[in-house]
Amino acid sequence: MPKLSIRDLTLEGKRAFVRVDFNVPLSESGTITDDTRIRQTLPTLEYALGRGARLILASHLGRPKGNPNPKMSLALVAKHLSSLLRRPVAFAPDCVGPEAERYAASLGNGELLLLENLRFHPDEEANDPEFSRQLGQMADCYVNDAFGSAHRAHASTAGITEFMPVSAAGFLMEKELEYLTKATSSPERPYIALLGGAKVSDKIAVIRNLLPLVDALLIGGAMAYTFLRARGDQTGKSLVEEDKLDLAKNLLAEAEQKKYRLQLPVDHVIARKMDAAAETRTVDGSSTPIPSDYMGLDIGPETVKLYAAQIAQAKTVVWNGPMGVFELEPFAQGTLSMAKALASLKGTSIVGGGDSIAAVAQAGVAERITHISTGGGASLEFLAGKKLPGVEALTDK
Ligand code: AMP
Repeated sequence: MPKLSIRDLTLEGKRAFVRVDFNVPLSESGTITDDTRIRQTLPTLEYALGRGARLILASHLGRPKGNPNPKMSLALVAKHLSSLLRRPVAFAPDCVGPEAERYAASLGNGELLLLENLRFHPDEEANDPEFSRQLGQMADCYVNDAFGSAHRAHASTAGITEFMPVSAAGFLMEKELEYLTKATSSPERPYIALLGGAKVSDKIAVIRNLLPLVDALLIGGAMAYTFLRARGDQTGKSLVEEDKLDLAKNLLAEAEQKKYRLQLPVDHVIARKMDAAAETRTVDGSSTPIPSDYMGLDIGPETVKLYAAQIAQAKTVVWNGPMGVFELEPFAQGTLSMAKALASLKGTSIVGGGDSIAAVAQAGVAERITHISTGGGASLEFLAGKKLPGVEALTDK
């Protein structure tokens, strides 16, 4: 790795600002429903604490849009972390200001503190220099272990490093970068990308950048319907982003002209409503178009066969985004079949994005995936060849 790692830092007696990703899912009643993200940072935290560092941890949680919101407080994460580490974790009720600074200054060697949600301040996402300075002045060095936020240039992922003598990657960050670099800098071919999910708008840049790199890009999920409509197909009530039709049309034309393999579903599971009890039908969309009062909610069995056959031939596959509304059983087959196809791959499989990770777990094949990335958006941007601001900001080796 061209960037410094936490292994390269002298930690004894030093205050280290560690950007972690504790953006965990919470239930309605405010309990943590999945603590994977917290557990994944434990190696970095235990390593640093064991070497006598004084840790100031910071994270975002949810989208409080720049305002304090007790529903998105990290206080309960501090408690949970304390039980995982089996040592006290202090909690500062604001991430900057005199109180946070007092907490940071009072840390002894091998002690740690979690700051309140960074996004309670609009300055975090604005990457405000004064806010970055205030975060930075509490510490002697910086460690970023929040790969999932590395594609954002925020105060805690980028701005802060301007005020730090040295900035390094934590173990989780390092592992992500190693896997993703190894798999894709000179990927074993055939190299296939499988993309799904709801919104084309989220992924259009990624699709454009990935197309020349992969041997085939297979599309599923609601996203497919914007492309199908752009191609002139009838898509009924399927989720289509009307304002992205021109973009989709251009992309299809570019793919055709440059002979990129951009593949769309050849059949669909459709229903009148997005409802587990709705009556479903399967149509191919061409000889039998999607009727005007139906919507496409999953890829159909022929598409599953077609995509699975290509995945079976591949040596590298990256997957992000479900193939249908997999939360509802009648529309989950496409997504679960893709999870199984990836698991049978004799090569490298990389899965990113919360829904695809959930699908792989639901299909019971998580252990057979080469790398499950903690950052959906970050891994996609990395795979598409973009530089991640949170990685660029780290100190060169
Ligand atoms: P994203 O956040 O863009 O990755 O989208 C994930 C969501 O897309 C999931 O909640 C799926 O239920 C939803 N989704 C996938 N396929 C469809 C579809 N055909 N119609 C509506 N929603 C879909």
